[in-house]
Amino acid sequence: MTMTYEEFKAQRLSIDMTRGKPAPEQLDLSQALIDDVGQAGYRSRDGIDCRNYGHVLGLPEARELGAQLLGLPADQVVAAGNSSLELMHDALAFAMLRGTAQGEPWARTADVAFLCPVPGYDRHFAICEALGIRMIAVPTNDDGPDMERVEALVAADPAIKGIWCTPLYGNPTGAIYSHETVRRLARMRAAAPDFFLLWDDAYRFHHLTQERYATPDIVAACTEAGHPDRALVFASTSKVTFGGGGLAFLASSPGNIDWWQRCVSVRTIGPDKLNQLRHVHHLRDRAGLERLMQRHRAILQPKFEALDASLRALLGDVPGVSWTKPKGGYFVSLFVPDGHAKRTVELAAQAGVVLTPAGAAFPYRVDPRDRHLRIAPSCPSPAQIELAALAIGLSLRRALEEGARGAR
Ligand code: PLP
Repeated sequence: MTMTYEEFKAQRLSIDMTRGKPAPEQLDLSQALIDDVGQAGYRSRDGIDCRNYGHVLGLPEARELGAQLLGLPADQVVAAGNSSLELMHDALAFAMLRGTAQGEPWARTADVAFLCPVPGYDRHFAICEALGIRMIAVPTNDDGPDMERVEALVAADPAIKGIWCTPLYGNPTGAIYSHETVRRLARMRAAAPDFFLLWDDAYRFHHLTQERYATPDIVAACTEAGHPDRALVFASTSKVTFGGGGLAFLASSPGNIDWWQRCVSVRTIGPDKLNQLRHVHHLRDRAGLERLMQRHRAILQPKFEALDASLRALLGDVPGVSWTKPKGGYFVSLFVPDGHAKRTVELAAQAGVVLTPAGAAFPYRVDPRDRHLRIAPSCPSPAQIELAALAIGLSLRRALEEGARGAR
């Protein structure tokens, strides 16, 4: 290694690798959303005045855009606000407090649990924790959650009301659910009659290679399997247009859309239709979105390559260390020898590189083996990523040395 940990620290750098945010150059790609506001106007295709209240399930053309993106009929798609995470939160809050289309409020029973494939998305787990939903970790493989475990647990325990699923380019491992995983999730027997797949398709269009991977239509698979109301699908343009300033979608069965309408109409008089109109104007259709995503890929791919090359050079020879090489999405998972993740993050922070806290990708923030780190290379420049990788490499080696010294 070209530098020692102490030498790195002496540079007094400050690099933030905590969250998978789009880089400013990516946000620039949708500057027209701001510059062309006047062109989008305020009247929808059908003459709806988007400046006013109403249309709680979204503007018709925004729902049609969502339908193209998600491959479902427009009347099974809701175009909502700026955040899909908000929709996931609301779905679970509604289920807890008001009940699902199939059953009574979950909160009436003493124990409500969810399966949480790990490593997973920290904010999914935060929702469960906030709503008092007990989390049960299940391992994730390259092709999705460990289905033997999932099937056994879901069939046996009526307290288990759902499972978090990030089917494509999962956060943080990049896992891609196989057709077989999707089929089994749709078909498996659930002890709870109101069991949900919370299908977070956040990275559906976020390819990092030439191959555009896709997973099967989960709503169709569930319908075919005789569980039409099992899947709630979520997506947004947060990493297509603006992070937190995009357009979010919910898609599901007709029965669940009716349920959603009943619940959400109490919460709001309607979404921001002006933003919906601007997005339809800017993206136009699925082809328009895919063209934009190619420009995102041109920015992101070199960053993921820089990270991979740096990790290979710095840690390729360290036993027990491995990392994912995702085909899409926003994250890389780094696995270090057991018991060394927390200390590595601590040492990297002391050297000026802030990483996502170790354990964040696990329920209750506890990685039982303390070996997983989530790296988010989207926002920093390739040069900063190389520096961050160097900090991670030096910090991990330092943590391993400390561990070896302590064991002596
Ligand atoms: N779902 C996953 C898996 C994510 O990684 C993220 C953001 O990082 C989100 C949802 C947030 O989506 P939104 O901005 O639509 O709330």
